[in-house]
Amino acid sequence: MARNYILLGPPGAGKGTQAEKIVRDYGAIHISTGDMLRAAVAAQTELGVKAKQFMDAGELVPDELVIGIVRERLDDQDIREHGVLLDGFPRTLPQAEALDAAMSGLGLSEPLVINLLVADEVLLRRLTGRRMCRGCGAIYHIDREKLDVGDKCPACGGEIYQRSDDELTAISERLATYHSQTAPLIEYYTAKGWLKPIDGAGTPDEVEALLDAVLGKPGKCG
Ligand code: ADP
Ligand code: ZN
Repeated sequence: MARNYILLGPPGAGKGTQAEKIVRDYGAIHISTGDMLRAAVAAQTELGVKAKQFMDAGELVPDELVIGIVRERLDDQDIREHGVLLDGFPRTLPQAEALDAAMSGLGLSEPLVINLLVADEVLLRRLTGRRMCRGCGAIYHIDREKLDVGDKCPACGGEIYQRSDDELTAISERLATYHSQTAPLIEYYTAKGWLKPIDGAGTPDEVEALLDAVLGKPGKCG
């Protein structure tokens, strides 16, 4: 049966980067609730209109909205075949419980929960310097790529922007939200025996190596 993964960690822990790696090397289908919600906001769907105010404030979107979109997506055949990688979900205990129920209802295997550990001061620096491409969704950092709002994406030529929730006040709110609402999931998954802690403070390559060690290096045919 296909293996399923949950990526847990504070905002800025590198979930997006490690998600790309797991999709590439282990073949799981990526579900990012952040990406789904941003797409809904951009398309001004009913969900997007409801979600935008919460997202801009750095608050969580209400559980029932997020649980609904994930549950719908989990039912797709590609997930049964390739496994799922959940990134940015679950973020609250009710979400975790709803996910358990949905996954066992669909007959999906118990997930490996990868917990990326990064100290708050490192997160702050990463988040305030983060920039995104409107064209291809690439993620950059002003320290690393030396590019900023107004520049063009080196990959696709798209416009570089800063997410409104990456501004300092929203970041502080997101970190506080993480500690109060999401950190309790660490205990929840530890009790189930599913938690795999990974040190996320290093470079993306270093973290990828730690991940391979924990997940078992992928074979060539996967
Ligand atoms: P990050 O992990 O960098 O904070 P995401 O891209 O995962 O960002 O999410 C951006 C925003 O979307 C969150 O701050 C929140 O408002 C909303 N969001 C994403 N996933 C969830 C979720 N599972 N539950 C509630 N809100 C969510
Ligand atoms: Zn781009």
